[in-house]
Amino acid sequence: MIKFLDLQKINQKYATELKQIAADVIDSGWFLMGEKLNNFETDFAKFNGVKYAIGVANGLDALRLILKAYINLGQMQEGDEIIVPANTYIASLLSISDNNLVPILVEPDLENYNLNIDLIEEKITSKTKAIMVVHLYGQICWNEKLVALAKEYNLKIIEDNAQAVGATYKGNRTGNLGDASGFSFYPGKNLGALGDAGAVTTNDANLAAQVRALGNYGCSTKYVNNFKGLNSRLSDMQAGFLHVKLKYIDAENHRRREIAARYIKEIKNDKIVLPNLPNASENHVWHLFVVRTENRDVLQSYLTENGIQTAIHYPIPPHKQAAYKELNHLSYPITEKIHNEVLSLPISPVLTDEEVSLVINLINKI
Ligand SMILES: *Cc1c(COP(=O)(O)O)cnc(C)c1O
Repeated sequence: MIKFLDLQKINQKYATELKQIAADVIDSGWFLMGEKLNNFETDFAKFNGVKYAIGVANGLDALRLILKAYINLGQMQEGDEIIVPANTYIASLLSISDNNLVPILVEPDLENYNLNIDLIEEKITSKTKAIMVVHLYGQICWNEKLVALAKEYNLKIIEDNAQAVGATYKGNRTGNLGDASGFSFYPGKNLGALGDAGAVTTNDANLAAQVRALGNYGCSTKYVNNFKGLNSRLSDMQAGFLHVKLKYIDAENHRRREIAARYIKEIKNDKIVLPNLPNASENHVWHLFVVRTENRDVLQSYLTENGIQTAIHYPIPPHKQAAYKELNHLSYPITEKIHNEVLSLPISPVLTDEEVSLVINLINKI
């Protein structure tokens, strides 16, 4: 069987180094806010080309803390509107509504599943304070028009970079394109911890200090609480694991690109829509390889019967979830079409050439 995501195999490659980290942390007796966290933050900032990286507990918290920090800094207030793609994982919206901000959903582009930047301007009101772009499936959502729009209307651009660690736009990493960026190191993400983990990156010193304080009970000095914060820290154990895996992320993303290139070149089935290769200035990191077909469920069952695990990202759009009853009456036809038709094929740095061939041959035969 070909697993959709073989986390055991992915981490086995680095088992010796990871076990050494676990031993170091146990022997040191230091578990939070220590040297391992510090070293990871320094190198993760360097990797992204940003001034500040702050480790947090998970990707949702990274986004929540960015927005909470902007509120604390007086740059946003409750009731303000944040533009966000209708086609995203629900965490993007949760980070907004959790701060009593209002998510304003914008349809994606059917070509790349990302926020359609041409549809943003009509949604901007006097309450709009930010655009949250999501680099969905590992593909960059960015262009000059977005930057110009943000500048014209004085909006922050927040990147939900949970799926695109390591991607570059004209040589700059995602995570260093907008005003602030939230990363997830959930085990299945391209840079996965061995548990929950996340980070915020920014070049804004005030925002960085605010996020750091808010993630640690709102204090900068122990037992001195300046803000009503959260407990959202990245442990030294996870930071140590991530530091090991950071060394290999570019090579792993490269392998994902090789697999994606083969799928795109060799899958020949006119009922299946393949992803578009982004233009040359963008470097997609293929967190997911998503195809689209009107007969999605047929394709999925066929692959399952033939030993290929697939997944759906995502089956229900956020505005149709019970959690967002206030949005249930809205209609986003492109988003709904995507949710009904997408199927994610296996893609991971440990997939072998033979396994890729097997997937391709099966799809070409149906
Ligand atoms: C995974 C993910 C998140 C949330 O990250 P967690 O670490 O699971 O909290 C947010 N946004 C997107 C697009 C994601 O894929």
